[in-house]
Amino acid sequence: MENNIEQPQQQGGASQPPQGPRKQQGPGGPEGQPKMPAGPRNPFMWGWLAIAAILTVWMIMGDRVTPAETDWNTVRSDMISRGEVTKIVVVNRETAEVYLTKAAAERYRSVEEYSNIPTGEDKAQFRFTIGSVDLLAADVEKARAEFATALPLDYRNDRGGWATVLNWLPMIFLIGLFFFMMRSMSGMMGGGPGGQIMGVGRAKAQVFDKEKQTKVTFKDVAGLEEAKVEIMEIVDFLKKPEKYKELGGKIPKGALLVGPPGTGKTLLAKAVAGEADVPFLSISGSDFVEMFVGVGASRVRDLFRQAKEKAPCILFIDEIDAIGRARGRNAGYGSNDERENTLNQLLTEMDGFGTNAGVILLAATNRSDILDKALMRAGRFDRQIEVGLPELKEREQIFEVHLQNLKLAPNLDRGFLAKQTPGFSGADIANVCNEAALIAARGGKPAVDKEDFMSAIDRIVGGLERRSLVMSDEEKRLTAFHEAGHATVSWFLRHADPLIKVTIIPRGRSLGASWYLPDERHNTTREQFMDKIASLLGGRVAEEVFFNTSETGALSDLERATKMAYAMVTYFGMSEALGNMSYYDSSGSSDMAFTKPFSEQTAQQIDAETKRILGEAEAAAREVITRNRTGIETLAARLLDKETVFSEDLEEIFGARPEGTNEDERA
Ligand code: ADP
Ligand code: ZN
Repeated sequence: MENNIEQPQQQGGASQPPQGPRKQQGPGGPEGQPKMPAGPRNPFMWGWLAIAAILTVWMIMGDRVTPAETDWNTVRSDMISRGEVTKIVVVNRETAEVYLTKAAAERYRSVEEYSNIPTGEDKAQFRFTIGSVDLLAADVEKARAEFATALPLDYRNDRGGWATVLNWLPMIFLIGLFFFMMRSMSGMMGGGPGGQIMGVGRAKAQVFDKEKQTKVTFKDVAGLEEAKVEIMEIVDFLKKPEKYKELGGKIPKGALLVGPPGTGKTLLAKAVAGEADVPFLSISGSDFVEMFVGVGASRVRDLFRQAKEKAPCILFIDEIDAIGRARGRNAGYGSNDERENTLNQLLTEMDGFGTNAGVILLAATNRSDILDKALMRAGRFDRQIEVGLPELKEREQIFEVHLQNLKLAPNLDRGFLAKQTPGFSGADIANVCNEAALIAARGGKPAVDKEDFMSAIDRIVGGLERRSLVMSDEEKRLTAFHEAGHATVSWFLRHADPLIKVTIIPRGRSLGASWYLPDERHNTTREQFMDKIASLLGGRVAEEVFFNTSETGALSDLERATKMAYAMVTYFGMSEALGNMSYYDSSGSSDMAFTKPFSEQTAQQIDAETKRILGEAEAAAREVITRNRTGIETLAARLLDKETVFSEDLEEIFGARPEGTNEDERA
């Protein structure tokens, strides 16, 4: 297992922003919306009760006038034979109704069993189910001859009226049940017993008013200088709108904050509100997404209504990609219609309010590339503000902000902390500071010192140490050689990331790890890719060379290596066979999963190239490992002995890293 601090795990990533108690503004809250009374006082409830009552009464009544059940033999031998039957009517080709003479009907009614049968000549007193119309006709014909009557046999189709209602009764019941369930579900989602069906269309924005707000200002946001400059204009507008109105200038209606999670987008938006001293309404894009049609759109309407009431104010929509995803993707999956409606409503609302309404919309996403282009049009989110991962200097400033509240050991080097945390977001750094304080407290220390920070960083990157995990000696040896393989290969290959330390202390789900300091570059060359892949494969190769075996622990190494090689071929045009060609889709609008944008032949070529790259990297790793057998054995022994080995040890074993390695390049 090889670990790289370039990709810290987001363990509980974003810590809570330093805000006062959050005010959940539920439906029917103190904002003056009339409460929907629960229980039978609710008009909806009355409606349902009435329907239920009618149905019950009607079913009981219905029962009273139903003809009694009988069968053909009884009808023939008991009734027709005595001349009691006036006619037989076949209804819907499935039942026959038997009409009796008035006298006969009265007589039957006097019998206890038939006391409910209807009287009157226009009503049937008995009925029975028939097998087939032809059979009945034949039977009736025979009976006519036998008893010498002119008994009429009529036919009637009865799809309307009560019969239909009876047929549909289960259906009506189901629909009723559905509505009932929907209502109680929306009640659940609307929050509280008051949130009934009327509440489902309301937007549950969190409101930070002047009174409730523990103010966030630009001082609390470290780094992000460019973003702050951009956004300062918005603050200025909210403070002195007249200045802009007089000049006839138009202020952007909205700005989109784009950047990876935890980089301080929410914080920045809050700071804008804090600086301008206006209310801040915050909602997440996923809050609009509900399983019911039309709910999203009505929530958008409601949100903008709330915002206009509070203007001037800042409206912040987090994770806007939940609704703003490009339309028309995956057409055919019904769920998308709802999101499309929501997005359309958002666009309409954004067009609807004038630039001077005093509502400024800020939205955050970590994927601006998949957003619908219509959102980015002028007059909507016409300003995009990049909020990237912090650079070295910025990390130092972020540490500065979050160290303020900690009791620190004297002379703690902030620059050193910043250097140890490449690739960390602001939220990660906040997390490190908090974790370090906890670790120091656990150790009963009077102040948080450097070691606590180092353990906190390790923990956030690799998960919790699991010293208690029992490993067999054999397993330990294998892990030691595996990690030594990674370390050695990366030590000798020029373009691999410089190593910080190797350890065989199990952590999280891995049995060991080697830690690298990735440089803060923005581009990766082909050579760097190749050497990285080789170092990744170094672990597995070492197992093969020294033990002639392989184990499953290399899974994530192999996965990462394969993905890198695949990306080299398909995205970065780094394979000669395919040439400078990229199948990367930055718009995210085509679905690679279903239709490949290349032919079957190219697919085969891609496979072959990926395999070739992996093969070459493996050969490079094998070469380094076989050449340094004794060194690796020493290193593994030292690992088994000390558990953690640093780059100084490697230098002692192998000598300084060869000329022109990554480390020198960066110096
Ligand atoms: P995002 O909205 O980009 O996902 P947040 O704004 O919610 O991230 O950031 C989460 C937390 O991380 C903040 O509350 C803050 O404690 C910390 N943080 C992130 N970026 C910064 C920064 N530039 N300066 C100070 N703290 C930061
Ligand atoms: Zn490994």
